[in-house]
Amino acid sequence: MKRWKCTVCRYIHEGEEAPEKCPVCGAEKVMFIEITEDAAGSTDLKNQQEEAPEKKELSTITRLILKNHLHPISVHSPNGIIPMAVLFLFPVVLFNLQNFANAAYYSLFFALLAMPPVLISGYVTWQNKYKGERTTLFTMKIGASLVATITLFILVAWRTVQPDILSSSSSGRWSFLLLSLLLLASVGIAGHLGGKLVFGANK
Ligand SMILES: [Zn+2]
Repeated sequence: MKRWKCTVCRYIHEGEEAPEKCPVCGAEKVMFIEITEDAAGSTDLKNQQEEAPEKKELSTITRLILKNHLHPISVHSPNGIIPMAVLFLFPVVLFNLQNFANAAYYSLFFALLAMPPVLISGYVTWQNKYKGERTTLFTMKIGASLVATITLFILVAWRTVQPDILSSSSSGRWSFLLLSLLLLASVGIAGHLGGKLVFGANK
């Protein structure tokens, strides 16, 4: 059985031919290289040539981001805070428990503050570890991250400009809740695709 490696996400496929599309990241067939191993277990020359460009000089910051996995680390802050923030919004909108409105607002605010390192480390990881390839997975992941950032910003700005948006007399509170659900969905999609990329390729 031949073994093929996706040069974008490192997914390993076993079969006579490389798959038409990478099941993990969606890269085209041409992005696959065959892996052949000698008795010592080291990969052949063809494979080494493919790996070589990755060893190019990286800036100190880029190396720190990649080596210390700053993207998965930084992304835990908004990924942990946002579901709580959305949860806090339900008692406000459904039962008019206004204390939860502040809890939700502060949570969204801190999630927004956590976004710049998430976006920067995500971009750097994509550019360096995944060659900046625009496969289906990366397009969707970047799209979901942008939707998440924009909705998060709108929610924080909205409550800042209109502090009574979540009061029982405000009809806008339903739109606010709906937008927060869109935020939660986009964060979920971006996170799911990230997990697929990391754990799918480790097969
Ligand atoms: Zn792939």
